Amino acid sequence: MSPENTPPVLILLGPPGAGKGTQARMLEEKFGLVQLSTGDLLRGAVAAGTDAGKAAKAVMEAGQLVSDEIVIAVLKDRLGDDDVKNGIILDGFPRTTAQAEALDGLLAARGQKINAAISLEVEDDAMVERISGRYTCANCGEGYHDTFKKPEVEGVCDKCGGTEFNRRADDNAETVRSRLEAYHAQTAPLIEFYQARGVLKEVEAMGAIDEIAAKLAEIVEQAKA
Ligand code: AMP
Repeated sequence: MSPENTPPVLILLGPPGAGKGTQARMLEEKFGLVQLSTGDLLRGAVAAGTDAGKAAKAVMEAGQLVSDEIVIAVLKDRLGDDDVKNGIILDGFPRTTAQAEALDGLLAARGQKINAAISLEVEDDAMVERISGRYTCANCGEGYHDTFKKPEVEGVCDKCGGTEFNRRADDNAETVRSRLEAYHAQTAPLIEFYQARGVLKEVEAMGAIDEIAAKLAEIVEQAKA
């Protein structure tokens, strides 16, 4: 396969609450790409009680970043799965320059490159409210919000009919502030990192979910062309 014709690799950058997970799932459905969320992978490791999960648990609860070593290992492992071969959307990775450099190495070894790093531009003040009200269907993972996106029938998932819902342990106002601080100190510098490489796309992301999804779909179409 020529480098021009390798499966797309997209990165979603943005603070917690910017909508990375929501948009990644929409792109996944529309383009047949696979969402790779290191947050989901780490929560899975915590639930499974693996060594990585044990090391990550307290750090995640404090809203800080898990070590590069652990996160890179978890991602590398997931990249070995068969389902990622048609292209990926990275959601929440990389979050540090060291992770971005490691990603370059992992992709180079696969003959792949980054097609676009999409920065979701949002206002910090709105993020605390967005995050504090969110929850997901325990069965299918569909996301909801106490104010902005309630299920059509209260207590029943629109998508799968599930009636159990989860709230993340780190989605409380105090931890969100730590997560926002970690974003600005450690992750925001990646915007310049990807700008310098000519793959950065900035998207205003305070508006309606569908409008933002349409802008992202356009970027993905161009990136795939
Ligand atoms: P997220 O689901 O992306 O909001 O991630 C939840 C938490 O998992 C973060 O607050 C971090 O503690 C940890 N985490 C997820 N991805 C990374 C990453 N790429 N680097 C370091 N920590 C991460």
